[in-house]
Amino acid sequence: MKNLHSRLEELAKISSVLEPTKTERKDQQGQVMAFANEFLNGMTSLPGYAKAELTQDFSISGNPRPLNELIGIYKNEVAHKGIYACSGAHFGYIPGGGLPISGLADYMVAITNEYAGVHFASPGAVAIENAVLDWLKDIFGFPKSAVGNLASGGSIANLIALTAARDKFGVKNERIKKSVIYLSSHVHHCIKKALRIIGLEDVVVREMELDEEFRLQPDLIHQQIREDKANGLSPFLVIASAGTTDTGVVDPLKAIGELAQEEGLWYHIDAAYGGFFILVDQTKPLFEGIDLADSLVIDPHKGLFLPYGVGAVLVKDKEAVMYSHHYFANYMQDILGENLPVNPADVSPELTKHFRGLRAWLPLQHYGVEPFKACLEEKLLLTHYFREQLVELGFEVGPEPDLSVSYFWYPYQNGDVNAYNKRLLDLLHEDGDVFLSSTQLNGQFVIRMALLVFRTKKEMIDRAVTMIKKAMVKMNAS
Ligand SMILES: *Cc1c(COP(=O)(O)O)cnc(C)c1O
Repeated sequence: MKNLHSRLEELAKISSVLEPTKTERKDQQGQVMAFANEFLNGMTSLPGYAKAELTQDFSISGNPRPLNELIGIYKNEVAHKGIYACSGAHFGYIPGGGLPISGLADYMVAITNEYAGVHFASPGAVAIENAVLDWLKDIFGFPKSAVGNLASGGSIANLIALTAARDKFGVKNERIKKSVIYLSSHVHHCIKKALRIIGLEDVVVREMELDEEFRLQPDLIHQQIREDKANGLSPFLVIASAGTTDTGVVDPLKAIGELAQEEGLWYHIDAAYGGFFILVDQTKPLFEGIDLADSLVIDPHKGLFLPYGVGAVLVKDKEAVMYSHHYFANYMQDILGENLPVNPADVSPELTKHFRGLRAWLPLQHYGVEPFKACLEEKLLLTHYFREQLVELGFEVGPEPDLSVSYFWYPYQNGDVNAYNKRLLDLLHEDGDVFLSSTQLNGQFVIRMALLVFRTKKEMIDRAVTMIKKAMVKMNAS
């Protein structure tokens, strides 16, 4: 017994560092805030991209090290190398944002360590998650009875939706090889990944021919469905995108929804990138028919500018989504009750999860929705402004964009046009003042721009134009 007491004292003493004293806590917070403020103060002068090798050793030695040294590693090796995803100079892939207030929300969440998986554990946290989902249902015209989830991102959100579609149609065993999915070759690759993960690798996938602007063609889909049915196959799912990753186009959502309804198929829409543009008057009409979807994915860590780690899914058929995700275990009997709200854990592969609702709820409540709308409309206008400048510089640009993704290339006459534009992009990456990425469209190499960071303002477009002019001088000299 004596041994036990003295050992406990010893253990408590060793582990006491994990709970900082008031003074230590203030010091830690001060150091982290000092880093954060310095970073935020320098935000507008950050480049889009810093191509660099890592120089520090990240391995964990097991021995204590001072916090300032570790913050230093974060600053030099993490924050200042690679793509500045928080910066208004990030025009590549699908950029995000990183609202500072959401960082503070995450801090609050971590401090109280809310358990956002089940209502019983933290009714308030679950209520906030559900309030964010209700807001989304409202925006997209989904009924209140739909269920949803705040997942880690669009990939898992899509996985949840596709699992529900699979379960609704009982696509398993011998049915797999006869079941058919209709999608676009421009669908995000996470959809194909999800199909493999959920055991649908062997279903028939019809990658439909697109129109000249890379949108799905409802008539072709309809014809193919009829043909497939006549041949004894079982069409069950059609997938459209509201804002493709390659060129940002919105598929004809209404027409596809109507044919899905007529043919009795599950209709899934991936609006991970484009979804929030429904808030803007000038782009709202493109989203007509989005309410016909059986399931919908939207990424708040893209169009709502939140820090990475939150994607949302909405599903109309509660039973379908709960079939795979709801689970009862004896050790969870305490959570049962009458008329309780839907538990996030019943709509997701996750049980214990990050309470992601607060990082969305806090800014939406604190700022209201108008600033978000304004930022999105601003991105549409900046896309046009950028394209105008590019045309003046002699670039060819893609068609009038639906949203804030577009592309361009230099129509080089004296050799391989693809190689020329690839070399140009390499130069732009070396410069890094603004980060742009690229894609292939029917074998053509094009430089892509995607404007979505809330910090992207007119000055950033001017900076990009200056960078491109500089690179063109080098290209012409070489
Ligand atoms: C980004 C994106 C995804 C994947 O979402 P993650 O949040 O990266 O997991 C899926 N679909 C589209 C259209 C996207 O833009």
